[in-house]
Amino acid sequence: MSKTNIAVLGAQWGDEGKGKIVDLLTPNFSAVARYQGGHNAGHTVYADGTKFVLHLIPSGILHPGVTCVIGNGVVVDPLALFKEIDELARMGIAVDGRLLVSEKAHMILPYHRELDVLSEARRGERKIGTTSRGIGPAYEDKVGRRGIRICDLLGDRAALQQEVRENVSARNRIIKESTLDWKPLLEQLISSGERMRPWVADVSLFLARTMQAGKAVMFEGAQATLLDIDHGTYPFVTSSNASVGGVCTGLGVPPRAIGGVLGVAKAYTTRVGEGPLPTELSGELADRLREGGQEYGASTGRPRRCGWFDAVVVRYSARINGLDALALTKLDVLDGLPEVRLCTGYRTPNGTLSEFPADLRALAAAEPIYETLPGWSRSTKGATRLEGLPPAARRYIDRLEEASGVPCAIISTGSDRGETIVRPGSIVESWFT
Ligand code: GDP
Repeated sequence: MSKTNIAVLGAQWGDEGKGKIVDLLTPNFSAVARYQGGHNAGHTVYADGTKFVLHLIPSGILHPGVTCVIGNGVVVDPLALFKEIDELARMGIAVDGRLLVSEKAHMILPYHRELDVLSEARRGERKIGTTSRGIGPAYEDKVGRRGIRICDLLGDRAALQQEVRENVSARNRIIKESTLDWKPLLEQLISSGERMRPWVADVSLFLARTMQAGKAVMFEGAQATLLDIDHGTYPFVTSSNASVGGVCTGLGVPPRAIGGVLGVAKAYTTRVGEGPLPTELSGELADRLREGGQEYGASTGRPRRCGWFDAVVVRYSARINGLDALALTKLDVLDGLPEVRLCTGYRTPNGTLSEFPADLRALAAAEPIYETLPGWSRSTKGATRLEGLPPAARRYIDRLEEASGVPCAIISTGSDRGETIVRPGSIVESWFT
């Protein structure tokens, strides 16, 4: 068994196929730990032909014997968690004894969903494009130091009652016409706490002991670097640190525990929601990528915006996260295109940009500088060896690696576990031997 703990996270704007990669690598680990986000994430995993969509529970749950951890950096909607657990049970997967939820994780309360919808409506045309699941308002309450944590449900009842009353009256002040009653909410929280009790743990302690015992842990990111609250395209971002820093704060593990960082990137670019996207395509080509890649949100069904691979973005991601390697997904979606392009820099009114800008106005004004390469007509779908790829596809990967500054250790050629190339001699192999 591997002793290297690695982080697997999104190198673009999310939906890169992290679920498949985490699922693929899980047999090398004894625990998989989610460090941020909420049930707005949607990981789709195909295991032996069966489709599983996971929102909150790490994709490692599909492997017997692997412990799945939900960290303190995650915000938990207990009802969404129960729904996911019940659905997994219906599909023959039991979580008991294998699921741990941090006692320090904050709760998403029913009115956080309402506040989410309200805040988006107030922004009008400047809306963020959230999934309206209350994730942002739950993080706001956490940072505002009025959040309710899971340990609060299991502790002193009088203190919990006071917290719930104060929270509900604050919310009633924000939503003028609202007269929410705190009593049913308190009851709901208490019963949720009872159902969660067997899973609630000090996950930092669990992970420290696991690692001390020489067992390996995989840290699983949700969303992605360009959606990170600090390093993403603010304000069109998620409310947590999806980049590697979130591992330490969201799980209570020290930086030296992270032995490797694998960035997951698509062979092109997509994003769901609002905000500038320099390589965005429109028309037939965009439709072709959207249909070919089934680019519709796993959580909301929203069509994703599609564009060419942006090496400026992935270079930036590599710097922020210290990426050791990329898992390049969905190469097969580019099959049959007469030519493929990748963006290596941006042209702006003030000159050429080779680094990703912080100012969204600069990003919106950026014109991609493209390199055009020949496409390939032979299918890459299901390829398991580099030699099985058409020469033009290999040239594209080589150029993409050079422009991004990160080697592709894994190349995914389809949604199933088996449709994968693991490059011989890559760092990923060294992590598992
Ligand atoms: P995640 O949130 O990063 O896990 O990504 P999603 O689950 O939202 O989207 C990834 C989708 O792409 C899923 O439906 C996967 O089954 C699918 N997928 C992953 N890798 C590949 C691949 O190499 N080729 C194709 N065609 N689909 C893939």
